[in-house]
Amino acid sequence: MSPRADLAIRGAIVIQDGAFARDILVTGGRIAALVESGAASAEEEIDASGLLALPGIVDAHVHFNDPGRADWEGWARGSRAAAAGGTTTVIDMPLNSVPPVLDGPSFDAKRAAGERASVVDFALWGGIVRADPVALGELAERGAVGVKGFMCESGVPELPALPDGGLVAAMRAAADAGLLVALHAEDSALVAEATARVRAAGRRDAAAWAESRPPLVEVRAVARACTAAREAAARLHIVHLAAVEALGAVGAARREGTDVTVETCPHYLVFDEADVARAGPSLKCAPPIRDRANGDGLWRAVSDGRIDLVASDHSPCAPELKARGAGDVFAAWGGVAGAQSLLCALFTEATRRAAGTLDARKIAGFVAWRLATKPAKRFGLWPRKGALVPGADADVVLFDPAREWTLDAEDSLTGGISPYVGRRFRGAVVRTLVRGRTVFREGSVTREAGGRFIPRMEEGARG
Ligand SMILES: [Zn+2]
Repeated sequence: MSPRADLAIRGAIVIQDGAFARDILVTGGRIAALVESGAASAEEEIDASGLLALPGIVDAHVHFNDPGRADWEGWARGSRAAAAGGTTTVIDMPLNSVPPVLDGPSFDAKRAAGERASVVDFALWGGIVRADPVALGELAERGAVGVKGFMCESGVPELPALPDGGLVAAMRAAADAGLLVALHAEDSALVAEATARVRAAGRRDAAAWAESRPPLVEVRAVARACTAAREAAARLHIVHLAAVEALGAVGAARREGTDVTVETCPHYLVFDEADVARAGPSLKCAPPIRDRANGDGLWRAVSDGRIDLVASDHSPCAPELKARGAGDVFAAWGGVAGAQSLLCALFTEATRRAAGTLDARKIAGFVAWRLATKPAKRFGLWPRKGALVPGADADVVLFDPAREWTLDAEDSLTGGISPYVGRRFRGAVVRTLVRGRTVFREGSVTREAGGRFIPRMEEGARG
């Protein structure tokens, strides 16, 4: 007879390679088994009847800014917002914390900050600013999921862009250290030229931001990134792709055998230039939000797999850094605070676009793949994360696909300004569990900390 489980989550439809009525048994923080309804016994029971059970969301791109700029948000606040949104693992970027995560000691400082205050589990990106084998080796040995570099100004002085002439050498050094390279792909020369032209015309309105970074900025940078990856034999991940035309170079690179994946963000899928004009600086980000036809094109690419995954690129700031852009968009901080809305924004958009042709279970499967399974696989966290299978961490989102709700300002947990406040959602997070412990339940975060650092698993250790 099997031993009594710590926890049984009963009655949910489990979204994992399809949709099945199963009870989830949890022992020692891991999924022990998926069993027939009512089977086995447990110390604690959760009644999840009528709900879907999704693998906990793995948000591959957040900036919690801690240490150094914790007054903008920090691990405590950022991770609470994530937990409320059904995210059980975040992968934090090497900036805008101070110091940026560029070597072993700065990695250790970031990890310690997360271990002190994060409610959810976390993995870490390192940063790359030059070909530095020693620093890259330190990051790899500590379990960084990869290194992120910039092809244009990063927005903070302490993390400079990779110099044009040094891109291939830096990527080769990362590949030698076994690290995947994530690139912010906007061409700095084209950004400078278009920005000067738009500013010289006296433009400071919200729409001027997108005009200062036209699609060609991404098309050119993504093409160069793909070519550099091939030359360096590096694994490449394009973060927050926003211009659908830039996918052409990715398709060509894949056909030649280059290992490249692409991410986009909900704000590029659900908002357009009219929203930017209405919302102003809260939707300022780089690359910029473009027009409706571009958003439609990105959605098709997410649907057919040309875009691999969706992440929040949650990048909050002190509210006054957004406010100062009211009369001059160029003066505002660039970044969208969206960690809390990742799952619900994507589920809502998928439901809207399916227009009744797909049932909620199929939509949940699509969303879970893009937001949990695929990022966990790409960044070396699967099958510990991103899967509801025996042996995986018991990271579970209990989700009500039918509930309609509006994000009120007092329920927005980020330290930044969320552009999703006032927005209507379809589908709600009812409960979030990290390693079998409830961290969010019916509107309230129920833990103070307890999140663990998750190192990237070695290739051979994966299932
Ligand atoms: Zn970012």
